[in-house]
Formats: sequence, C-alpha cells, structure tokens
Amino acid sequence: MHVRGYAAPHPRVVPTPFSFTRRDPGDHDVAFAVSYCGVCHSDIHQVDEDWGPGIFPMVPGHEVVGVVTEVGSAVTSFAVGDRIGVGTFVDSCRVCEFCRRGEEQYCVEGDTPTYNGLERDGVTPTFGGYCDRFVVDEAYAVRIPDGLEMAGAAPLLCAGITVYSPLRHWGAGAGTKVGVVGLGGLGHLAVKFAVALGATTTVFSHSAAKGADAARLGAHAFVDTSDAAALAPLAGTLDLIVNTVSAPLDLERYLDLLSVDGSLILVGLPGAPYSLGAGTLVSKRRTVAGSMAGGTRELQEMLDFCARHGIVSDVEVVAASDIATAFARTRASDVKYRFVIDATTFAEA
Ligand code: NAP
Ligand code: ZN
Ligand code: ZN
Repeated sequence: MHVRGYAAPHPRVVPTPFSFTRRDPGDHDVAFAVSYCGVCHSDIHQVDEDWGPGIFPMVPGHEVVGVVTEVGSAVTSFAVGDRIGVGTFVDSCRVCEFCRRGEEQYCVEGDTPTYNGLERDGVTPTFGGYCDRFVVDEAYAVRIPDGLEMAGAAPLLCAGITVYSPLRHWGAGAGTKVGVVGLGGLGHLAVKFAVALGATTTVFSHSAAKGADAARLGAHAFVDTSDAAALAPLAGTLDLIVNTVSAPLDLERYLDLLSVDGSLILVGLPGAPYSLGAGTLVSKRRTVAGSMAGGTRELQEMLDFCARHGIVSDVEVVAASDIATAFARTRASDVKYRFVIDATTFAEA
C-alpha cells in the first residue's frame, strides 16, 4: 500500500516528505489510518545516530495511534473502526519466555523495532509512525480505551509505558518517596503516574521555569538542579528515582538522595556512558538499574490504568511541516510536554 510520510534522508538531517510502500495486510495483520504520532526524544537520538549507525531513509515514530481500516481474515482482536496503538516494536520471536509473557521488548532474539530496524526476514526495513497509514500484526498492537483522547494517548505508547513499567516494577505507591529527574515527555508522565499510584513525588529539573507545571501535574516538591546546593537537604530520603534525562548526568548527585535499599532507574538513553563510584552504592545498599519501554501485556494494563485515572499526555499538536521545529524545541528542553503530529497533515506534504 502507498504511504505518505516524513523521513530523515541521512543521519542528522530532520525528516522531510517521503512516500513509500508497506505490505498489504496479511491474514494476521491490521491496517489503520494513523491519527497521531508522538515525537519521542529517541527519534532524535536515532536520526542523530547517538546510539550507533541507523538505517536511512528513516521514518521515525513509535507512538502511533489510529483507526482500523482493514483486518486480515484471521484477525480476532480488532475490527474496522477500532482505535488502535503501536509502540516501540512490531514483531519478536514469539516463542521465548519473554515473548510468551508479553514482555516482547526483552525477546531473547531481540524485538523488531517499529522503525530503524529490520523485519524478521532480516532485510526489509521497518518504517515508523510519521506517516498516514500503518500495517501491523494484530499481536503487536493494543486497544486505545474509550474515553482516552487520541492525541494525548499517542505518547502513552512509548513515553507512558517507559515510566509506568519501572514505577510498577520497583513498587511506587502509597508510603513511597519517588523522584523524577527531567520534566520532558517521559518525566511529566512519570509524575502523573507516580502521583496516581499514591507516591510522594519530587521533580528534579534543570529548567527552573517548569516549577509551576510540576505542581500542576501533582508533584509534591520541585528541585531546581541548576542550584548546586538544592539537593543536599534531600540526601538519603528517597526510595526510588527515575532518571528520564536525555543527556549525560552526574548520577552520584542523585544516588546520594536514595535511602537504604533505594533504586535509581535509568530510562534516559544518552549516547555516552555514565561514571559512578562504588562507595555511593555500597554505603546504603543502593541499586542502579535500567528499564526498556514495556511489552503488550503491560501496555494494555497501562492504557486501562490511564482510562481509570484520566491520564493522557500534555501535548502540543503540530503539522508534519513543523517536525523540524518540534525536534529543535525538544533538543532545547522546551516541550510542553510532548509534540504530537496530526497525521492528516502528511497528505498535504
Ligand atoms: P524530552 O522530552 O526531551 O525530555 C528530556 C528532559 O531531560 C528535558 O525536558 C529536560 O528536563 C532534561 N534534560 C535535557 N537535557 C538536559 C541536560 N543537559 N541536563 C539536565 N537535564 C536535561 O525527552 P523524552 O522523550 O522524555 O526522552 C528522554 C530520554 O529517554 C531520551 O534519552 C530517550 O531516548 C529516552 N527513552 C528511553 C526509553 C526506554 O525504553 N528506556 C523510551 C523512551 C525514551 P528539564 O528541563 O526538566 O531538566
Ligand atoms: Zn520513544
Ligand atoms: Zn522472543
């Protein structure tokens, strides 16, 4: 099928109009008209090759929501007209223990990334959601619950699940003290989830002007990290910190804030390694861990949680022709709090 989208033609070049074809839907596939696609900082890292060589032309986008237009003969979970979403992967081995539990992002053979990857055949490049039409195996799509507004739901497919998963895995809830570092796309959703789970939530931001937004999002405290002395009073007090920052950071500053047995979870993915000393970990039996997005089981759980709690992303809806501006403002930490592309505007390109 013919698809109109935007692709980065080469590394470090912002996406421009690009037409391409997708497979026609097979027996297990669902085709959908894309409604919105979020702009994740990972899109920028991959266009910039921060994580290594990319596959170009690259159609980014792994926060894709739309409305089903066609279903294959064997499809059982979706019907024409259903609201559907696709996140960070579109396939996996399907038989390993992680695939069987719906944690496809940890597939032992590696998942098939929604873009900047190859299908299981090892040769066909995958193209993401910066486009007007999508085809996916029904097993790799989720249902957008009624009541979640579509533009605000799109960022849940990556930003949302990436913070929901570690908050749940490490037990954020009533009686716990949670820190969120970086108030961007991931960070603002982390605040909404941590607050909804009942945790006392502190935001750490290098943008002092975001303090009012942190309060509006429900955070109980805001720390301006550009003030060197601001963190000291919190030393040893937090149970869990989720670091969403896209740039390298002094991790020891945040480790110091953890109580005994506290955990610092890395979800931000700067290209460069962190450095940390053993002493800060050893002195309070602290843990540093990482977490990647989330699988189909937890994606659906998170979306249902969002429907119950009325959680969607704060978004700025933009046209395809504004992608360059969205990239520039995201790079500058100037996002309120996710750019989402209106997919009807791809037809105008
Ligand atoms: P984003 O919207 O750009 O937010 C990142 C935030 O980090 C910024 O808003 C800013 O918050 C803070 N920040 C940026 N540069 C900084 C600097 N130099 N020093 C201190 N703070 C800085 O990005 P995002 O889409 O939320 O993604 C965040 C990171 O998570 C990216 O690296 C992305 O690739 C990664 N990610 C990982 C996964 C995963 O599976 N683990 C999934 C999605 C994204 P303040 O202005 O509040 O300081
Ligand atoms: Zn993402
Ligand atoms: Zn697998």
